[in-house]
Amino acid sequence: MAKTLWDHLPPKEYLAAQEHHLARYIRELVYPLSPYYRELFDYNRIKPQVIRSVRDLSLIPFTTKADIAPLPDKPEIPFYLVLEPDRERIESRASVRFRHRLLRLTYGKKGYSELMDREFLPVHYHFTIGRTALPTPILYTRYDLHRLREAGRRIFELAELDRSDVVINAFPFAPHLAFWMTYFATEAVGMPALHTGGGRILGTRRILEALERLRATVLTATPSYAYHLLRLAAREGRDLSQLHTLILGGDRLPAGLKDKMLELLGKVGSMQPAVIATYGFTEGRVAWSECRASALSKEEGSGYHLFPDMEIIEIIDPETGYRVEEGQDGEVVYTSLDWRGSVLLRFRTGDLVKGGIVHSPCPYCGRSLPRLGLEITRTSEYKEFELTKLKGTLVDLNAFYPLLSGHKDVLEWQLEIRKHNDDPYDLDELHLHIAPAEGVSKKYLEKELYELLQKEVEVAPTRIVFHSLPRLLQRLGLETRGREKRFLDLRPGTPEFEAKEREPIEKDRTEGYVGPSGEQVTLPTEE
Ligand SMILES: [Zn+2]
Repeated sequence: MAKTLWDHLPPKEYLAAQEHHLARYIRELVYPLSPYYRELFDYNRIKPQVIRSVRDLSLIPFTTKADIAPLPDKPEIPFYLVLEPDRERIESRASVRFRHRLLRLTYGKKGYSELMDREFLPVHYHFTIGRTALPTPILYTRYDLHRLREAGRRIFELAELDRSDVVINAFPFAPHLAFWMTYFATEAVGMPALHTGGGRILGTRRILEALERLRATVLTATPSYAYHLLRLAAREGRDLSQLHTLILGGDRLPAGLKDKMLELLGKVGSMQPAVIATYGFTEGRVAWSECRASALSKEEGSGYHLFPDMEIIEIIDPETGYRVEEGQDGEVVYTSLDWRGSVLLRFRTGDLVKGGIVHSPCPYCGRSLPRLGLEITRTSEYKEFELTKLKGTLVDLNAFYPLLSGHKDVLEWQLEIRKHNDDPYDLDELHLHIAPAEGVSKKYLEKELYELLQKEVEVAPTRIVFHSLPRLLQRLGLETRGREKRFLDLRPGTPEFEAKEREPIEKDRTEGYVGPSGEQVTLPTEE
């Protein structure tokens, strides 16, 4: 991959190259070697050679999460996506057959088989985050890992980092994209890095020690965990003056939360820090980021810089399924380009992006890459909370995230849905747990939150429960879980209810709470 060209080809040229590669990819690799797509094409009577342009993609039906998720009695479903270099199928296409015969001649039988393994044999697995559904595996071959390294290297290049930087990787250690992409990116650039595995593996205290003692310049983490680390660092008066870059992933970064983190970074001595947002999903194989100049700007960010040689992103109207015009809102649809392992065509992410995709050069860095709007409503992460029926109305609980995480008077929060009296036929109740900022009047905050939520999401919590910060952190499991428990569904029948993770309401009362009618609050003092 030409390093100098990846980000500076004019759109006209990379779009033409994209079309050329897409047509060939489908004709020579996806159709002959993907059991899933061969069947899909055959069933829909689509000849692979009719896909000649990106526009022609619309002839192919969408692939949804449900299509590729494993079922308890059919765990093999996601493996149908994996390219299988079957001899018979290779021989069935003249152009492919010729190339492979040539390879066999050049490298000999053993060399050829090693070459094929390198390209097609899966060696690395990622899993989607699934709580109610079974997680879907997405497989990488060595060929793919090379591309993942390159994509990671590009993100660091966009962040203007180099070998003189020191990275602390605080993404949770798991078979997930964020941790591993950071790992491969640091390896590709050749920069010193400590892959901590996050709070659950190395422990928050040791991560803070490492940040300070190794004079780390870069921190990669989820927004919630980075905020937690910075808050602790500021409280303990640590010197993180070398830290100049935060690369955040795994969750969205609301503007208000970014501001809170910038304030904390100032407190620990960081000068001109860049807080960089990324966007990715397991099925997309890589994540994308904004450039440093965009992250530093006080103005609107320029969007996630995509890699036109690795994927095709379409934006569609989620209702009609038709593609929307450049710059228009819609759902993100992903098509793999030149990947091996698990290959997807027209995969509906369910994520809604404001401002869609644009192809004009980035106003900040001038790169000519396609850019995806920064404001993305992710439905993939908390799928089960998307449009939950609450008190008879449909509510998107994901909408609470920016409102609460970004609120200046809220340190942490958790949202809990339960049934009145745990009776499955009774009304839904929404309990909002809050750790308020120091010195904030509970009465004011309670009123403020009721009004804000009523106005923005049109649903007010049944009650607001105030907690001390340590208590709420414990509830969220920021230290003990790979992924914090931001939303809890404790309605009878849910896994959490069955796991009896719920606490009796009485227990909350000892910590004090304020109901809608404004009862008094008693709170323990913070440790
Ligand atoms: Zn840029």
